[in-house]
Amino acid sequence: MGSPTERPLHAVFLPYMAPGHMMPLVDIARVFAAHGLRVTIITTKMNAQSFKNAIERDIRAGHQIAIEVLHFPAIEAGLPEGCENISKSPTPEMTIKLFHAIEMLQPQIEELIRKCSPDCIASDVLFYWTTDVAAELGIPRLAFSGSGFFNMCVAYCIEHHQPHKHIKLETEPFVVPNMPDQLVLTRSQLPDIVKTRNKFSELFDKLKEAERKSFGMLVNSFYELETAYADYHRKVIGIKAWHVGPVSLLKGGQDDKAERGDEPSVSKHSCLSWLNSKKPNSVLYICFGSLTRFSKTQLNEIASALESTGQFFIWVVGKVLGMDKKDEEEEWWLPDGFEDKMVESGKGMIIRGWAPQVLILEHPAIGGILTHCGWNSILEGVAAGLPMITWPIFAEQFYNEKLVTQVLKIGVPVGNEVWKAWATEETSFISREKIERAISKAMCEREDGEQMRKKAKRLGELARKAVEEGGSSHKDLKILIEEIKCYARKKASFQKDL
Ligand code: UDP
Repeated sequence: MGSPTERPLHAVFLPYMAPGHMMPLVDIARVFAAHGLRVTIITTKMNAQSFKNAIERDIRAGHQIAIEVLHFPAIEAGLPEGCENISKSPTPEMTIKLFHAIEMLQPQIEELIRKCSPDCIASDVLFYWTTDVAAELGIPRLAFSGSGFFNMCVAYCIEHHQPHKHIKLETEPFVVPNMPDQLVLTRSQLPDIVKTRNKFSELFDKLKEAERKSFGMLVNSFYELETAYADYHRKVIGIKAWHVGPVSLLKGGQDDKAERGDEPSVSKHSCLSWLNSKKPNSVLYICFGSLTRFSKTQLNEIASALESTGQFFIWVVGKVLGMDKKDEEEEWWLPDGFEDKMVESGKGMIIRGWAPQVLILEHPAIGGILTHCGWNSILEGVAAGLPMITWPIFAEQFYNEKLVTQVLKIGVPVGNEVWKAWATEETSFISREKIERAISKAMCEREDGEQMRKKAKRLGELARKAVEEGGSSHKDLKILIEEIKCYARKKASFQKDL
């Protein structure tokens, strides 16, 4: 093996098996390869399927990038064949089994990393133990959580100051202390784990410790979007970080976008030709990410609101709660006759399954996005310059919502107040009236929405600039690569001196 000055640096990427974690880290891996590094992505067979075409295109373009495939212990973990990603799990019980199966990969991954002997590991934070492998090999570990700076800062302040401890009512608003902006939350919007320790608390403690021991964090964001929070993260929380996003803007042509994340359930052609038939900014895109499931009652309410507003829309309908593959019709439930009516009138397009989201959002006919506030969806909406309707459900989505509605002021909340990981038929639902009000505020040509739309557009321009040559994210990526090189050089000269 040559010295790090003679051969390209070798970076190993270890994405977690959930679309919101895997897609952005694979995007970053591809950008590292485009910058001349040798890259190896470690994953399982099913997960590799979702990005292997893109990697093959990169290889044809002369990039040094490869996928190493792990054996997934489906049978050992009691999982059905092909269930290798959190988005494929129909029930909470199955998700727990999947977590265990992914944990079982640790020895295989460690062995592979030792065999690769890379110059750096870029690992999802959930693989906290990669800190130890990195220490053993004397290489930097970059941690990737999939979230932005704002979320990390809110989580930090809540953990440190515990403002919710003095609040009696679940619905009583409180201000998160010591933040750059005034942020208002309620207890009911906090993740369960913040309010009481649970079976995941020990794991979270380990992740936090590993984050602190890492070389730094890779963040899918851009400086102009979260300036105060990027600074706060570095100076107050004290963890090194490089912002390299929005990663959805970083690479590729239409094929990359159409296939991003999974095989789309609708053809690129039919999607684009439907959008081409609509006026600019006239269509609302509705999607709740890769993990959300709703009750039939809630789906009915969304359908009624769409029908009564007469809004043009593309709705990516998620699977109905609690259903597995036994009954396809029930799995993709919609009220009787709704789809036919919408298709005939040209008002709506329904996508059951995976949508080519980034491709759709970039189309000029799209005028807004109704989102569950997953960080990737927010960034993709920002990158496309779109105003948002926010409907957070769980994870850190309520924090992200506050960035959109209270700080950036580019979104209208639909009014969900209650954090809940797995909805049940009894979960409080959002009424059609609330949905209608939010749609009309975000999408109608009224004056109060005008400011919001202008601001969203401006942020979209800044996002694109950030990833261009000389932009803030492009610069930070170059700085990071230099730092990894420097680390490798120091390690080589230290070994020579021994
Ligand atoms: N996504 C997509 N098609 C879909 C659903 C989701 O391309 O039908 C992508 C979306 O563009 C985003 C990711 O999946 O990049 C979802 O990540 P996010 O953080 O928004 O939400 P999560 O799925 O993690 O809740």
